Amino acid sequence: MSSKNIPELYGSLVFSDKVMKNKLPKDVYKVLRKTIENGTHFELDIANAVAVAMKEWAVENGATHFTHWFQPMTGITAEKHDSFISPVGDCEINMDFSGKELIKGEPDASSFPSGGLRATFEARGYTAWDPTSPAFIKDKTLCIPTAFCSYTGEALDKKTPLLRSMDALNQEAVKLLHIIGNTTVKRVSTTVGPEQEYFLIDKKLYEQRKDLIFCGRTLLGAPAPKGQEMEDHYFGVLPTRVSAYMHDLDEELWKLGIPAKTKHNEVAPAQFELAPVFDSTNVAVDHNQLTMEIMTKVAERHGLVCLLHEKPFEGINGSGKHNNWSVSTDTGVNLLDPGKTPAENTQFLLFLTAVIKAVDDYADILRASVASPGNDHRLGANEAPPAIVSMFLGDGLNAILDAIEHDTYFGRHKKEQIDMGATVIPHFTKDDTDRNRTSPFAFTGNKFEFRMLGSSLSVSGPNMVLNTAVAEVLSQFSEKLASVAPENMEEAVHSLVKETVLAHKRIIFDGNGYTDDWVEEAKKRGLYNLKSTPEALPAFIAPKNVELFTKHKIFTKEEIESRYEILLENYSKVLHIESLTLQEMICKDFLSCAVSYMDKLALTICNKRNVSASLSVACEEKTLEKLSGLCEKLSISTEELSSLTKKAQAIEDLQAQATFYREEILTKMNEARAYADEAERLIPDDYLSYPTYGKLLFTI
Ligand code: ADP
Ligand code: MG
Repeated sequence: MSSKNIPELYGSLVFSDKVMKNKLPKDVYKVLRKTIENGTHFELDIANAVAVAMKEWAVENGATHFTHWFQPMTGITAEKHDSFISPVGDCEINMDFSGKELIKGEPDASSFPSGGLRATFEARGYTAWDPTSPAFIKDKTLCIPTAFCSYTGEALDKKTPLLRSMDALNQEAVKLLHIIGNTTVKRVSTTVGPEQEYFLIDKKLYEQRKDLIFCGRTLLGAPAPKGQEMEDHYFGVLPTRVSAYMHDLDEELWKLGIPAKTKHNEVAPAQFELAPVFDSTNVAVDHNQLTMEIMTKVAERHGLVCLLHEKPFEGINGSGKHNNWSVSTDTGVNLLDPGKTPAENTQFLLFLTAVIKAVDDYADILRASVASPGNDHRLGANEAPPAIVSMFLGDGLNAILDAIEHDTYFGRHKKEQIDMGATVIPHFTKDDTDRNRTSPFAFTGNKFEFRMLGSSLSVSGPNMVLNTAVAEVLSQFSEKLASVAPENMEEAVHSLVKETVLAHKRIIFDGNGYTDDWVEEAKKRGLYNLKSTPEALPAFIAPKNVELFTKHKIFTKEEIESRYEILLENYSKVLHIESLTLQEMICKDFLSCAVSYMDKLALTICNKRNVSASLSVACEEKTLEKLSGLCEKLSISTEELSSLTKKAQAIEDLQAQATFYREEILTKMNEARAYADEAERLIPDDYLSYPTYGKLLFTI
């Protein structure tokens, strides 16, 4: 592909606005745009016209099928393909696609997790077109982004609540902007740019590891002699094979209109990152889901496997996903950009403090929104942000907030002569001081970067929580400012900003989040430290959070409870599979390898003795003894793991079960692993049933 063709290639598989404009009658196009912009319902004749155009375009581009593409609670995307063909007589067909088929699908959805919302006999769910995210072609199939609901309207997916949260934020932000005098704004939306980390390993090696195949992470494996300590991988030259992969990947993403922009080596060996240019939140969510899928598929073509697990390897960094998030208006203003005029500054300060308050008030549910069994291996380990949510603002902004708090900035000490000119905050471009990599939630010049997300997580959940929490604070701000006269507004806003900063500055922390001192300090400040998924998930059903979600119509109480259940169940299931995989790897594979090698050692000892009693067998004996001892301990641990796992399975209460998996099963797995890893160091590679860390990490 020559670079000349890239503009042509870009978005070629997307039913974009440009294509719609070309394909649709002018009046239909106009109505469609309006419907999308206002978020109103589609009339069937419009839907029919769009469907015809969509099908025509899709068929021209090689599609034979269509699917409603949705994001159930499994965390990955789902699709059920229907072909366009419709027989019209003797061996003849038409390629058909109707407005009805576009707007609504009815997948038999009984096997998707619903957390008790939809009894299995009520198996019907439906998918509804999300016209704000464009349709695209993948594998000769026209994919229509949709939301997935039960027949009675409860959300069964990750998209519905996200769209609801975007609405809530829009509504509250517009209301507040109007109150403070910015009446030209009609719509406010959030933007997201997720930076995606991943590992690449050789496919042939991958296929020899049951743990990677079943669990996505290694459950056994002694560290290689070299890890990431030399820091020679970060931003290093891309290996040829990886570079070819990335080129291919970029092209595939560009065809789908995904603006893949940055790529580089990450800190750990065999670890990389891809970042797109940001987009409106629901589009960014769709794109990130697609990106993860395409990354995995393109890897196969190159004889590689892309690992999206948060912690594929012990002892080196895991993978995360930085969620860059901002709020902007339909008038083109980024509300988290400090701007250059006093009015912009007022707006900025108000929205900035709204985010600070939102993060402080809802730190627990933000933490819960990134909780997953994989991410538990990262958060709080010295490679990723701690499990404690705190915010980093940078020196410049801290100075301003400090000045506001102490009345030194706005000349408040001489009340009669407030100098509006002085309220102009110097325009922040990107703050170079932001290299605080340990902060979970950092202000980076004109956006916030939420860094606690795991690499495989859908960015939908955390953004849904963030949008909703901020919407709530904006609504509280509106209430406070609604009756203020315009001439007093500037001052009222400043008081509100001050009051908010004072009440919530405990969440601001600019130091090193990896230290024990911070854990102590955070405790003193009354911040949450929810270390694991089972500890974090109850935040979903905490009364204040239920109140938040129901007030803004993101979830009903039943929907929240069902989500809490699904996530708990998922946690236990993942650990259950890991435990079974580890048991199998140890009993069937590892121990038999160890026994073969011990046999070899024993044989050597016997043979040597037969040859001559004076030959030393000390080395063989020592190794044999050590290995034998470790294998015995390993075997006992594994038996204990087996009985604990049976016990875990029998626990009925979901919360108690998840906690048991965390406290008992995971601990026992780690114990067994430690014995196996120590034994592995004594066993030659060609006796082992799986490739070592050294091979996995240093051969691409
Ligand atoms: P970093 O130094 O953290 O790597 P980058 O400049 O590469 O920062 O940006 C990281 C991500 O932030 C990119 O995906 C970028 O598109 C995104 N981003 C930039 N501005 C915004 C914004 N206003 N809203 C959301 N995301 C944004
Ligand atoms: Mg970043």
